[in-house]
Amino acid sequence: MFENKKIFILGMARSGYWAAKVLANMNNDIVLNDANEKQDENRVKELKDLGIKVVLGSHPDDILDESFDYIIKNPGVHFDHKYLLYAEKHNIKVINEIEMAYHLLPKGVKLVAVTGTNGKTTTTSLIYEIVKSAYKDKVHLAGNIGFPLCEVINDIKENDYLIMEIGVPQLHDFYDFNPDIAVLTNIYEAHLDMFKTREYYNENKKRIFMNHNKNNIAIINKGNKDAYELTKDIKSTIKYFSSKEQINGAYLKDDKIYYYDEEIIDTKDIKLQGIHNYENIMCAIMVARELNISNDIITNVIKEFSGVEHRIEFVKTINGVDYYNDSKATNVTSTQIALSSFKKPTILLLGGLDRGHSFEGLTEYMKNVKLVCSFGQTNNRIKEYCNKINVPCIVSETLKEAVNKAYENSSSNDVVLLSPACASWDQYKCFEDRGNEFKEIVKNMVII
Ligand code: ADP
Repeated sequence: MFENKKIFILGMARSGYWAAKVLANMNNDIVLNDANEKQDENRVKELKDLGIKVVLGSHPDDILDESFDYIIKNPGVHFDHKYLLYAEKHNIKVINEIEMAYHLLPKGVKLVAVTGTNGKTTTTSLIYEIVKSAYKDKVHLAGNIGFPLCEVINDIKENDYLIMEIGVPQLHDFYDFNPDIAVLTNIYEAHLDMFKTREYYNENKKRIFMNHNKNNIAIINKGNKDAYELTKDIKSTIKYFSSKEQINGAYLKDDKIYYYDEEIIDTKDIKLQGIHNYENIMCAIMVARELNISNDIITNVIKEFSGVEHRIEFVKTINGVDYYNDSKATNVTSTQIALSSFKKPTILLLGGLDRGHSFEGLTEYMKNVKLVCSFGQTNNRIKEYCNKINVPCIVSETLKEAVNKAYENSSSNDVVLLSPACASWDQYKCFEDRGNEFKEIVKNMVII
Protein backbone atom coordinates (compact mmCIF):
# COMPACT_ATOMS: atom_id res chain seq x y z
CA MET A 1 0.00 0.00 0.00
CA PHE A 2 2.83 2.39 0.82
CA GLU A 3 5.50 1.09 -1.54
CA ASN A 4 6.68 2.76 -4.73
CA LYS A 5 4.31 5.67 -4.15
CA LYS A 6 4.60 9.44 -4.25
CA ILE A 7 3.93 10.77 -0.78
CA PHE A 8 3.68 14.34 0.47
CA ILE A 9 4.23 14.80 4.19
CA LEU A 10 2.63 18.01 5.42
CA GLY A 11 4.13 19.10 8.74
CA MET A 12 7.39 17.79 10.13
CA ALA A 13 7.11 17.65 13.92
CA ARG A 14 7.83 14.23 15.40
CA SER A 15 5.19 12.30 13.52
CA GLY A 16 6.19 13.69 10.13
CA TYR A 17 9.84 12.93 10.78
CA TRP A 18 9.14 9.35 11.83
CA ALA A 19 6.65 8.75 9.00
CA ALA A 20 9.26 9.98 6.52
CA LYS A 21 11.88 7.61 7.94
CA VAL A 22 9.59 4.60 7.77
CA LEU A 23 8.35 5.40 4.26
CA ALA A 24 11.83 6.09 2.92
CA ASN A 25 12.73 2.47 3.62
CA MET A 26 9.85 1.32 1.41
CA ASN A 27 11.05 2.81 -1.81
CA ASN A 28 8.71 5.80 -1.89
CA ASP A 29 9.26 9.17 -3.51
CA ILE A 30 8.79 11.62 -0.63
CA VAL A 31 8.42 15.37 -0.21
CA LEU A 32 8.30 16.74 3.33
CA ASN A 33 7.11 20.30 3.80
CA ASP A 34 6.82 22.52 6.86
CA ALA A 35 6.23 26.29 6.99
CA ASN A 36 8.44 26.50 10.03
CA GLU A 37 12.06 26.79 9.01
CA LYS A 38 13.40 26.07 12.47
CA GLN A 39 13.73 22.28 12.61
CA ASP A 40 16.28 19.99 14.18
CA GLU A 41 19.23 20.23 11.77
CA ASN A 42 20.43 16.69 12.37
CA ARG A 43 16.99 15.31 11.59
CA VAL A 44 16.69 17.36 8.42
CA LYS A 45 20.09 16.15 7.26
CA GLU A 46 19.19 12.55 8.08
CA LEU A 47 16.01 12.79 5.98
CA LYS A 48 17.84 14.43 3.07
CA ASP A 49 20.45 11.66 3.20
CA LEU A 50 17.58 9.17 2.85
CA GLY A 51 16.64 10.83 -0.46
CA ILE A 52 13.71 12.83 0.87
CA LYS A 53 13.06 16.29 -0.56
CA VAL A 54 12.69 18.55 2.48
CA VAL A 55 11.08 21.97 1.85
CA LEU A 56 11.01 24.27 4.86
CA GLY A 57 9.95 27.86 5.55
CA SER A 58 6.84 28.18 3.35
CA HIS A 59 4.23 26.25 1.37
CA PRO A 60 5.23 26.86 -2.26
CA ASP A 61 2.52 26.35 -4.87
CA ASP A 62 4.60 24.19 -7.14
CA ILE A 63 5.68 21.33 -4.88
CA LEU A 64 2.35 19.47 -4.85
CA ASP A 65 0.80 18.15 -8.06
CA GLU A 66 -1.66 15.49 -9.20
CA SER A 67 0.99 12.79 -9.40
CA PHE A 68 1.00 12.33 -5.61
CA ASP A 69 -0.79 9.28 -4.14
CA TYR A 70 -1.05 10.44 -0.53
CA ILE A 71 -0.73 13.43 1.73
CA ILE A 72 0.24 12.57 5.28
CA LYS A 73 -1.09 15.46 7.29
CA ASN A 74 0.05 16.54 10.72
CA PRO A 75 -3.02 16.62 13.04
CA GLY A 76 -2.37 20.31 13.77
CA VAL A 77 -2.84 21.41 10.15
CA HIS A 78 -6.21 23.04 9.51
CA PHE A 79 -8.67 21.25 7.24
CA ASP A 80 -8.88 24.21 4.88
CA HIS A 81 -5.12 24.35 4.17
CA LYS A 82 -4.56 25.01 0.46
CA TYR A 83 -2.79 21.68 -0.09
CA LEU A 84 -5.72 19.80 1.43
CA LEU A 85 -8.22 21.62 -0.75
CA TYR A 86 -6.05 20.79 -3.75
CA ALA A 87 -5.91 17.13 -2.67
CA GLU A 88 -9.68 16.95 -2.41
CA LYS A 89 -10.08 18.34 -5.90
CA HIS A 90 -7.52 15.97 -7.40
CA ASN A 91 -8.37 12.80 -5.48
CA ILE A 92 -5.17 12.61 -3.48
CA LYS A 93 -5.91 10.66 -0.32
CA VAL A 94 -5.27 12.62 2.89
CA ILE A 95 -4.40 10.48 5.92
CA ASN A 96 -2.26 10.87 9.00
CA GLU A 97 0.80 9.14 10.33
CA ILE A 98 -1.20 6.77 12.55
CA GLU A 99 -3.51 5.65 9.74
CA MET A 100 -0.45 4.98 7.62
CA ALA A 101 1.42 3.06 10.31
CA TYR A 102 -1.71 1.08 11.20
CA HIS A 103 -1.41 -0.66 7.83
CA LEU A 104 2.11 -1.76 8.71
CA LEU A 105 1.22 -3.50 11.99
CA PRO A 106 2.14 -7.18 12.18
CA LYS A 107 -0.63 -9.77 12.44
CA GLY A 108 -2.58 -10.38 15.62
CA VAL A 109 -1.60 -7.15 17.42
CA LYS A 110 -4.19 -6.31 20.06
CA LEU A 111 -4.85 -2.61 19.68
CA VAL A 112 -6.36 -0.49 22.43
CA ALA A 113 -7.16 3.15 21.53
CA VAL A 114 -8.17 5.78 24.07
CA THR A 115 -9.89 9.01 23.12
CA GLY A 116 -12.09 11.60 24.84
CA THR A 117 -11.92 15.25 25.82
CA ASN A 118 -10.21 14.74 29.19
CA GLY A 119 -8.27 12.00 30.91
CA LYS A 120 -6.72 10.48 27.80
CA THR A 121 -3.12 10.57 28.98
CA THR A 122 -3.90 9.38 32.48
CA THR A 123 -6.10 6.52 31.27
CA THR A 124 -3.72 5.47 28.50
CA SER A 125 -0.75 5.48 30.90
CA LEU A 126 -2.58 3.42 33.51
CA ILE A 127 -3.76 0.87 30.92
CA TYR A 128 -0.19 0.64 29.64
CA GLU A 129 1.21 0.07 33.15
CA ILE A 130 -1.33 -2.68 33.90
CA VAL A 131 -0.89 -4.46 30.57
CA LYS A 132 2.90 -4.17 30.88
CA SER A 133 2.78 -5.70 34.33
CA ALA A 134 0.90 -8.67 32.83
CA TYR A 135 2.52 -9.10 29.41
CA LYS A 136 5.95 -7.42 29.93
CA ASP A 137 7.88 -6.54 26.77
CA LYS A 138 5.02 -7.52 24.46
CA VAL A 139 3.39 -4.16 25.25
CA HIS A 140 3.93 -0.86 23.40
CA LEU A 141 2.76 2.70 23.97
CA ALA A 142 2.15 5.20 21.15
CA GLY A 143 0.09 8.08 19.80
CA ASN A 144 -0.68 11.46 21.26
CA ILE A 145 1.23 10.54 24.38
CA GLY A 146 4.55 11.55 22.80
CA PHE A 147 5.57 8.56 20.68
CA PRO A 148 4.41 8.52 17.06
CA LEU A 149 3.35 5.03 16.00
CA CYS A 150 6.02 5.15 13.28
CA GLU A 151 8.66 5.55 16.00
CA VAL A 152 7.76 2.24 17.65
CA ILE A 153 6.42 0.27 14.67
CA ASN A 154 9.62 -1.70 14.11
CA ASP A 155 9.63 -2.96 17.71
CA ILE A 156 6.11 -4.40 17.48
CA LYS A 157 5.86 -8.14 16.86
CA GLU A 158 2.96 -10.43 15.97
CA ASN A 159 0.39 -10.77 18.74
CA ASP A 160 1.89 -7.94 20.83
CA TYR A 161 -0.25 -5.35 22.63
CA LEU A 162 -0.38 -1.75 21.46
CA ILE A 163 -1.88 0.94 23.69
CA MET A 164 -2.57 4.26 21.96
CA GLU A 165 -3.78 7.71 22.95
CA ILE A 166 -5.73 9.33 20.13
CA GLY A 167 -6.72 13.03 19.90
CA VAL A 168 -9.80 14.15 17.98
CA PRO A 169 -7.85 15.92 15.22
CA GLN A 170 -6.23 12.54 14.50
CA LEU A 171 -9.59 10.78 14.25
CA HIS A 172 -10.57 13.11 11.44
CA ASP A 173 -8.08 11.49 9.05
CA PHE A 174 -8.74 7.82 9.83
CA TYR A 175 -10.27 5.46 7.28
CA ASP A 176 -9.26 1.86 8.07
CA PHE A 177 -7.90 2.33 11.60
CA ASN A 178 -9.80 -0.15 13.74
CA PRO A 179 -8.88 -0.75 17.39
CA ASP A 180 -9.90 -4.05 19.02
CA ILE A 181 -10.83 -2.05 22.10
CA ALA A 182 -11.79 1.62 21.80
CA VAL A 183 -12.29 3.79 24.86
CA LEU A 184 -14.24 7.05 25.06
CA THR A 185 -13.46 8.68 28.41
CA ASN A 186 -15.92 11.59 28.11
CA ILE A 187 -16.97 14.45 25.85
CA TYR A 188 -16.86 18.08 26.94
CA GLU A 189 -16.66 21.26 24.95
CA ALA A 190 -13.23 21.56 23.33
CA HIS A 191 -11.34 22.05 20.08
CA LEU A 192 -14.10 24.29 18.77
CA ASP A 193 -11.39 26.38 17.13
CA MET A 194 -10.69 23.53 14.76
CA PHE A 195 -14.07 21.83 14.44
CA LYS A 196 -16.24 24.98 14.51
CA THR A 197 -19.36 23.28 15.91
CA ARG A 198 -19.87 20.92 18.77
CA GLU A 199 -21.80 18.49 16.53
CA TYR A 200 -18.88 18.20 14.14
CA TYR A 201 -16.49 17.70 17.07
CA ASN A 202 -18.69 14.95 18.50
CA GLU A 203 -19.13 13.24 15.13
CA ASN A 204 -15.36 13.13 14.83
CA LYS A 205 -15.01 11.54 18.25
CA LYS A 206 -17.31 8.79 17.07
CA ARG A 207 -14.93 7.88 14.25
CA ILE A 208 -12.92 5.77 16.66
CA PHE A 209 -15.76 3.21 16.42
CA MET A 210 -16.51 3.63 12.71
CA ASN A 211 -15.00 0.29 11.58
CA HIS A 212 -16.27 -1.67 14.57
CA ASN A 213 -18.53 -4.70 14.52
CA LYS A 214 -19.71 -6.99 17.33
CA ASN A 215 -16.20 -8.45 17.69
CA ASN A 216 -14.79 -5.10 18.77
CA ILE A 217 -15.26 -3.68 22.22
CA ALA A 218 -16.27 -0.08 22.99
CA ILE A 219 -15.76 1.13 26.53
CA ILE A 220 -17.93 4.14 27.27
CA ASN A 221 -18.49 6.48 30.19
CA LYS A 222 -22.19 6.04 30.85
CA GLY A 223 -22.13 8.85 33.40
CA ASN A 224 -21.15 11.36 30.70
CA LYS A 225 -24.36 12.23 28.87
CA ASP A 226 -22.75 13.28 25.59
CA ALA A 227 -20.55 10.19 25.36
CA TYR A 228 -23.48 7.91 26.17
CA GLU A 229 -25.95 9.50 23.76
CA LEU A 230 -23.46 9.75 20.92
CA THR A 231 -22.51 6.08 20.99
CA LYS A 232 -25.93 4.46 21.35
CA ASP A 233 -26.01 3.37 17.71
CA ILE A 234 -22.39 2.20 17.21
CA LYS A 235 -21.90 -1.39 15.99
CA SER A 236 -19.39 -2.43 18.67
CA THR A 237 -20.09 -4.59 21.72
CA ILE A 238 -20.52 -1.76 24.23
CA LYS A 239 -19.38 -2.03 27.85
CA TYR A 240 -19.99 0.79 30.30
CA PHE A 241 -18.45 2.35 33.38
CA SER A 242 -19.92 5.06 35.56
CA SER A 243 -19.02 7.05 38.65
CA LYS A 244 -22.64 8.16 39.03
CA GLU A 245 -24.67 4.97 39.57
CA GLN A 246 -24.44 1.24 40.06
CA ILE A 247 -24.56 -0.20 36.54
CA ASN A 248 -23.95 -3.38 34.63
CA GLY A 249 -20.22 -2.70 34.18
CA ALA A 250 -17.63 -0.91 36.30
CA TYR A 251 -18.96 1.50 38.90
CA LEU A 252 -18.17 3.42 42.08
CA LYS A 253 -20.14 2.70 45.23
CA ASP A 254 -19.43 3.56 48.88
CA ASP A 255 -15.87 4.64 47.98
CA LYS A 256 -15.10 1.31 46.32
CA ILE A 257 -14.66 0.46 42.66
CA TYR A 258 -16.52 -2.58 41.34
CA TYR A 259 -16.33 -4.52 38.10
CA TYR A 260 -19.67 -6.24 37.49
CA ASP A 261 -20.26 -6.45 41.26
CA GLU A 262 -16.75 -7.80 42.04
CA GLU A 263 -14.94 -5.42 44.38
CA ILE A 264 -11.65 -4.40 42.72
CA ILE A 265 -10.24 -1.70 45.00
CA ASP A 266 -11.09 0.62 47.88
CA THR A 267 -10.46 4.26 46.94
CA LYS A 268 -8.49 4.75 50.16
CA ASP A 269 -5.80 2.49 48.62
CA ILE A 270 -5.52 4.69 45.53
CA LYS A 271 -2.98 7.50 45.19
CA LEU A 272 -4.81 9.17 42.28
CA GLN A 273 -7.35 11.59 43.69
CA GLY A 274 -10.75 12.75 42.51
CA ILE A 275 -13.86 11.26 40.95
CA HIS A 276 -12.49 12.04 37.49
CA ASN A 277 -9.50 9.84 38.24
CA TYR A 278 -11.73 7.05 39.56
CA GLU A 279 -13.41 7.21 36.15
CA ASN A 280 -10.01 6.86 34.48
CA ILE A 281 -9.27 3.90 36.73
CA MET A 282 -12.60 2.21 35.95
CA CYS A 283 -11.87 2.62 32.29
CA ALA A 284 -8.47 0.96 32.71
CA ILE A 285 -10.01 -1.91 34.70
CA MET A 286 -12.53 -2.55 31.92
CA VAL A 287 -9.75 -2.73 29.33
CA ALA A 288 -7.54 -4.92 31.51
CA ARG A 289 -10.31 -7.43 32.11
CA GLU A 290 -11.03 -7.58 28.38
CA LEU A 291 -7.36 -8.51 27.97
CA ASN A 292 -7.75 -11.31 30.55
CA ILE A 293 -5.57 -9.70 33.20
CA SER A 294 -6.12 -10.87 36.77
CA ASN A 295 -7.55 -8.70 39.53
CA ASP A 296 -4.33 -9.12 41.54
CA ILE A 297 -2.23 -7.52 38.83
CA ILE A 298 -4.80 -4.78 38.21
CA THR A 299 -5.10 -3.86 41.90
CA ASN A 300 -1.36 -3.83 42.49
CA VAL A 301 -0.67 -1.50 39.58
CA ILE A 302 -3.51 0.87 40.52
CA LYS A 303 -2.21 1.04 44.11
CA GLU A 304 1.26 2.02 42.91
CA PHE A 305 0.19 4.42 40.14
CA SER A 306 0.96 8.03 41.16
CA GLY A 307 -0.62 9.57 38.09
CA VAL A 308 0.94 11.14 35.07
CA GLU A 309 3.61 13.72 35.79
CA HIS A 310 2.31 17.19 36.70
CA ARG A 311 -1.41 16.19 36.72
CA ILE A 312 -2.42 15.95 40.39
CA GLU A 313 0.66 13.75 40.75
CA PHE A 314 1.36 12.38 44.19
CA VAL A 315 4.90 13.36 45.23
CA LYS A 316 5.58 12.38 48.85
CA THR A 317 4.14 12.23 52.36
CA ILE A 318 6.14 14.31 54.87
CA ASN A 319 5.13 14.32 58.54
CA GLY A 320 1.66 13.04 57.61
CA VAL A 321 1.19 15.75 54.95
CA ASP A 322 0.59 14.61 51.33
CA TYR A 323 2.27 16.74 48.65
CA TYR A 324 0.72 16.83 45.14
CA ASN A 325 2.06 18.36 41.94
CA ASP A 326 -0.59 19.69 39.53
CA SER A 327 1.68 22.09 37.66
CA LYS A 328 -0.27 21.38 34.44
CA ALA A 329 -3.16 23.38 35.97
CA THR A 330 -2.43 26.59 34.11
CA ASN A 331 -5.98 27.94 34.35
CA VAL A 332 -8.73 28.29 36.93
CA THR A 333 -10.84 25.40 35.55
CA SER A 334 -8.03 22.89 36.07
CA THR A 335 -7.45 24.13 39.62
CA GLN A 336 -11.19 23.68 40.31
CA ILE A 337 -10.88 20.00 39.31
CA ALA A 338 -7.82 19.60 41.53
CA LEU A 339 -9.52 21.23 44.53
CA SER A 340 -12.61 19.06 44.16
CA SER A 341 -10.34 16.02 44.32
CA PHE A 342 -9.37 16.51 47.97
CA LYS A 343 -11.48 16.25 51.11
CA LYS A 344 -8.59 16.91 53.53
CA PRO A 345 -7.54 20.38 54.76
CA THR A 346 -5.53 21.83 51.89
CA ILE A 347 -2.72 24.34 51.55
CA LEU A 348 -2.90 25.65 47.99
CA LEU A 349 0.13 26.96 46.10
CA LEU A 350 -1.23 29.45 43.62
CA GLY A 351 0.47 31.85 41.20
CA GLY A 352 2.49 32.45 38.06
CA LEU A 353 2.14 34.46 34.87
CA ASP A 354 -0.30 37.38 35.14
CA ARG A 355 -2.70 37.37 32.21
CA GLY A 356 -5.03 39.66 34.10
CA HIS A 357 -7.40 36.72 34.64
CA SER A 358 -9.76 36.51 37.58
CA PHE A 359 -9.52 33.94 40.39
CA GLU A 360 -13.20 34.33 41.35
CA GLY A 361 -14.02 31.00 39.71
CA LEU A 362 -12.15 29.25 42.55
CA THR A 363 -14.32 30.58 45.35
CA GLU A 364 -16.87 27.79 45.60
CA TYR A 365 -14.06 25.18 45.51
CA MET A 366 -12.12 26.74 48.41
CA LYS A 367 -14.02 25.24 51.35
CA ASN A 368 -11.21 22.82 52.34
CA VAL A 369 -8.46 25.36 51.69
CA LYS A 370 -7.01 26.49 55.04
CA LEU A 371 -4.19 28.57 53.56
CA VAL A 372 -3.09 29.89 50.18
CA CYS A 373 0.62 30.43 49.54
CA SER A 374 0.91 32.73 46.52
CA PHE A 375 4.00 33.23 44.37
CA GLY A 376 5.10 34.62 41.00
CA GLN A 377 3.76 37.57 39.07
CA THR A 378 0.21 37.15 40.38
CA ASN A 379 1.23 36.87 44.06
CA ASN A 380 -0.28 40.17 45.21
CA ARG A 381 -3.44 39.88 43.13
CA ILE A 382 -4.03 36.48 44.69
CA LYS A 383 -3.59 38.00 48.17
CA GLU A 384 -6.26 40.63 47.34
CA TYR A 385 -8.60 37.90 46.12
CA CYS A 386 -8.02 35.81 49.28
CA ASN A 387 -8.69 38.84 51.50
CA LYS A 388 -12.03 39.26 49.74
CA ILE A 389 -13.12 35.66 50.40
CA ASN A 390 -11.56 35.49 53.91
CA VAL A 391 -8.98 32.80 53.20
CA PRO A 392 -5.54 33.40 54.77
CA CYS A 393 -2.77 34.00 52.24
CA ILE A 394 1.01 34.25 52.60
CA VAL A 395 2.75 36.06 49.74
CA SER A 396 6.12 34.87 48.39
CA GLU A 397 8.18 35.70 45.34
CA THR A 398 9.32 32.23 44.40
CA LEU A 399 7.83 28.75 44.45
CA LYS A 400 10.59 27.64 46.82
CA GLU A 401 9.63 30.25 49.43
CA ALA A 402 5.96 29.36 48.97
CA VAL A 403 6.62 25.65 49.51
CA ASN A 404 8.61 26.46 52.66
CA LYS A 405 5.71 28.54 54.00
CA ALA A 406 3.33 25.68 53.23
CA TYR A 407 5.63 23.22 55.03
CA GLU A 408 5.89 25.46 58.13
CA ASN A 409 2.12 25.92 58.32
CA SER A 410 1.04 22.35 57.64
CA SER A 411 -0.06 19.75 60.16
CA SER A 412 -0.53 16.00 59.91
CA ASN A 413 -3.42 14.96 57.61
CA ASP A 414 -3.15 18.10 55.43
CA VAL A 415 -2.61 18.18 51.70
CA VAL A 416 -0.15 20.61 50.10
CA LEU A 417 -1.23 21.12 46.51
CA LEU A 418 0.61 22.94 43.74
CA SER A 419 -2.23 23.75 41.34
CA PRO A 420 -1.25 27.27 40.29
CA ALA A 421 -4.16 28.36 38.01
CA CYS A 422 -1.56 30.36 36.06
CA ALA A 423 0.89 29.65 33.26
CA SER A 424 4.50 29.28 34.35
CA TRP A 425 6.23 31.58 31.86
CA ASP A 426 6.87 34.42 34.30
CA GLN A 427 9.55 32.32 36.03
CA TYR A 428 9.90 29.07 34.05
CA LYS A 429 10.27 27.80 30.49
CA CYS A 430 7.29 25.49 30.83
CA PHE A 431 4.92 23.94 33.39
CA GLU A 432 7.07 20.79 33.43
CA ASP A 433 10.06 22.79 34.75
CA ARG A 434 7.86 24.32 37.47
CA GLY A 435 6.52 20.88 38.45
CA ASN A 436 9.98 19.33 38.46
CA GLU A 437 11.32 22.09 40.71
CA PHE A 438 8.41 21.56 43.09
CA LYS A 439 9.13 17.84 43.28
CA GLU A 440 12.82 18.49 43.85
CA ILE A 441 12.05 20.87 46.74
CA VAL A 442 9.58 18.43 48.31
CA LYS A 443 11.84 15.42 47.95
CA ASN A 444 14.64 17.28 49.78
CA MET A 445 12.43 18.33 52.68
CA VAL A 446 13.19 17.07 56.14
CA ILE A 447 10.96 14.56 57.84
CA ILE A 448 10.79 15.41 61.56
P1 ADP B 1 -5.79 14.65 28.39
O1 ADP B 1 -4.70 13.73 27.95
O2 ADP B 1 -7.13 14.23 27.82
O3 ADP B 1 -5.51 16.11 28.26
P2 ADP B 1 -4.90 14.16 31.12
O4 ADP B 1 -4.97 12.76 31.59
O5 ADP B 1 -3.59 14.70 30.69
O6 ADP B 1 -5.99 14.39 29.97
O7 ADP B 1 -5.48 15.11 32.26
C1 ADP B 1 -5.43 16.52 32.09
C2 ADP B 1 -6.35 17.19 33.09
O8 ADP B 1 -7.71 16.87 32.77
C3 ADP B 1 -6.17 16.68 34.52
O9 ADP B 1 -5.20 17.42 35.22
C4 ADP B 1 -7.54 16.89 35.10
O10 ADP B 1 -7.65 18.26 35.45
C5 ADP B 1 -8.47 16.65 33.94
N1 ADP B 1 -9.02 15.26 33.86
C6 ADP B 1 -8.32 14.11 33.86
N2 ADP B 1 -9.14 13.04 33.76
C7 ADP B 1 -10.40 13.52 33.67
C8 ADP B 1 -11.69 12.93 33.53
N3 ADP B 1 -11.84 11.60 33.45
N4 ADP B 1 -12.76 13.76 33.49
C9 ADP B 1 -12.61 15.10 33.56
N5 ADP B 1 -11.42 15.74 33.70
C10 ADP B 1 -10.32 14.95 33.75
